[in-house]
This record gives sequence, C-alpha cells and structure tokens, in this order.
Amino acid sequence: MILLRNAELATSEGFVRSDLAIAGEKISGIGETLRGETGEELDLDGCHVFPGFVDAHVHFNEPGRAHWEGLLTGSRALAAGGGTAFADMPLNSDPPVLTAAALEDKRRLAEKKSVLDFALWGGLCPGWTDRIPEMAEAGAVGFKAFLCPSGIEEFPAADAVTLREGMLRARVAGVPVAVHAEDPALVTCGHGRSMADFLSSRPKKAEVSAIRMACEVAGETGATLQIVHVSCSEGLEEIIRARRAGVDVTAETCPHYLLFDAEQAAAIGARAKCAPPLRPRDDVRQLWKDLLAGKIDTIGSDHSPAPPELKTGDDFFAIWGGISGCQHAFVSLLGELYRAGAAHRAADWFSAAPARRFGLKKGRLDTGCDADLTVVQFSAPGDPAPPLYRHPGHLYEFFKPSCRVLFVIRRGEFLVRGGVPVAGVGKGRFLAGKGVHL
Ligand code: ZN
Repeated sequence: MILLRNAELATSEGFVRSDLAIAGEKISGIGETLRGETGEELDLDGCHVFPGFVDAHVHFNEPGRAHWEGLLTGSRALAAGGGTAFADMPLNSDPPVLTAAALEDKRRLAEKKSVLDFALWGGLCPGWTDRIPEMAEAGAVGFKAFLCPSGIEEFPAADAVTLREGMLRARVAGVPVAVHAEDPALVTCGHGRSMADFLSSRPKKAEVSAIRMACEVAGETGATLQIVHVSCSEGLEEIIRARRAGVDVTAETCPHYLLFDAEQAAAIGARAKCAPPLRPRDDVRQLWKDLLAGKIDTIGSDHSPAPPELKTGDDFFAIWGGISGCQHAFVSLLGELYRAGAAHRAADWFSAAPARRFGLKKGRLDTGCDADLTVVQFSAPGDPAPPLYRHPGHLYEFFKPSCRVLFVIRRGEFLVRGGVPVAGVGKGRFLAGKGVHL
C-alpha cells in the first residue's frame, strides 16, 4: 500500500487537501487522515495531485517509423511529463492503421514496449471505410480523418463522400470520429518559402470551412465528432454553433496553440511548424479566453516528431510539419493555468474529459479507479527536464515552465520519482474503445 499524505487533490471545484491511499493498481481510499498498513508513505505537503494525463493525440510512429519516435521512447517521454495513458494516431506508422490486422500488430508492439496504458485510433480514408467495423471490433478507440493532405501518401485525405461513409460506419460501431479540419481549397501553396509565407498559406478561414463541413456530415449521419487541434476562436464558434443545432461535436486544442504565437514561430523556425499553424498573438489571447470560458473540451499534445534531417532547410513548405513536445507540453501549460487560477481545471481538460469522450476508464481520482496520478510542484520549479524523445530537439526548449512533475504513478507503479523518470520497458495495457463489445 502507498499512502500519499497532505496532498492538494484537483477536483472540478478546486483543490482539496486530503490523503490518498493506493492498494495494488487501484485508489483504495481518499480522506482526511487515512490509516492502514503502509508499504510507503509520502508527505506531499505543498504538492498538487492530478489524475494522470490522458493524451488522446500522439503520433509515436511505430511500426515502420520508430526512427522518428517509437512506442518506448514516446511513452517514456510522455510519462516523464505527467502522462499515464495515450491514444496513438493511425498515422505516421507504416503501415498506417487501416485494417484490424494493422491495429493488432501495433497493439502487440505497444504491449511489449509502451510504459503507459494505450488506446489506438484507426484511419478513415478513401477506399478503406469498409474496414471500420473490423477495426472497431478489434478495439479501435475511434477513427481519424484528414480533410486535407496528411503528408503521408498511404493516408489520403477524406472527401465528403468518404467522410459520410466513414461516419455512418463509425456511428453504427459506436465509436467517435476525429477530424483534422483544414479545407484544401482554401490552403494556398504560398508566394515564398519562409515561415511567414507558410503561416499565411493556411488561414483561419480554411479551418473554419472544414470544421463546418465535418459538423454538417456529423449532423446528417449522427456520428460523434471530435475536431482535433482547433487553433482559433472562429473554429470554436463554428463547433459551438453546430452543437447548439444538435451535433455531437467536441473540440480539442493543444498546448502549443496557447503557449506560442506566429511571431515566435517565425523566430523559432522548423520546430514550430505545424498544421493548422501557430496563430498571431491576438488569436492566442482569444483562445485563452475561450479556454477559460469553457469552450474547449480536451487538450492533447499532438506530439508528432520527425528526424532532425526532415526539420532542416529554408523552404518551410518542404520542411516536415509536426510539433515534438509531449513530455513538456502539459507541464508548461499547467504552470500558466496555475497563474490564471485555473490549474484545477486541467484535471478535466488533460484527463477526465478525453477519457470520458473516448470511453476509457481513466482520468479520475476516485476510490476504486486505476491509481494513475501525476504529482506537480508549482513552487520551486527547476530547469526543464532533459528530453526523453527519440530526437532531443523539441519546441519547448523555447519555453520555461513554472512548475515541474514530481511523481507519476501508473496503476500503482512509480514511473517518475522525485522528479526523476524511472520507467522501465513495457507493462502498458491496451484500452479498448467503446465499440469492441458490439
Ligand atoms: Zn496529429
């Protein structure tokens, strides 16, 4: 038994000072002064305890592109940053997850390598939608579609007909669809090659237009929809409008859209390249207001690294896009949320809400739940933790977090102790999506 004393536990109303007991893999008690046989007792006076972060949006790129990241390096990095579970996107693994066999192959690999519990997304691509039922049966957590080119040839963009077919099948299977929303007709190829040219080639109206289209199809088909990495307020307004009209749609954003702006992206260069792109400072300010006003449902890292040779050059249209940062993203944002008096709400945005949305039994600090905990120290922040990614270069080198992760516990097992990552290899467990028992 592990007994955590005097911790500030994150709840929806705020932080509550309490003890928390862990027996085996589960939380066995929460209360004022717990007693019991303890194997270990930690005094967490001054520390804040969150449900372990559930990152529903990572690209660990394995099988096939483990030299980009990998299930071991990626899950260890996320664990060091407070994550206890993740959902891996169907690309950029090679092959992408477009069949039950590909999903099962990735599952077997992750069971061997991942230090975190994991769910797997399947793909929604033209020519493959008839495979959605078998992937749902194999436990896919949901289906991801791109409305613009993904950059991966084997994972083509979904046109309206494909999206409709895919959404119908996903609805029947009882699992959600996640959409990368940028309208290719409104994305330009740019007039130059600089980061500023790239940023202006992917305007907000491209995002808004694609969100509108995805919401319309979700409304027609009755599908459950998550718009991933929403980068601007106008996109959120579109989602809220659709929800008012009865569409079951939620919004994810990522820490990089809240912590970096287009001006910084131009100065930082390739590590800040992503799509939708980082937005001008006024948009970032507005996105913060929207977050604090409750207009964003979940926050995921969209950790999507690539080898350094793909992140060099002076043509920002040719440089590979994607932010590396799952180890540093949550803790960086958490420090800013604390300053805004909203750190307790991260328990929902980082953990409970993604778990709820995708039907994962994770993300809650309650007796009987999995003992997945992230302990954070807001006072006395140290230097950012050394990166554990496959390639050390990452966006958050350009951000100094004001807090640090002190302990991470996944189903009763320490993955970070006293700020030091101690995760070994494997022991991650597969988390099946809602459709598996159909
Ligand atoms: Zn992504």
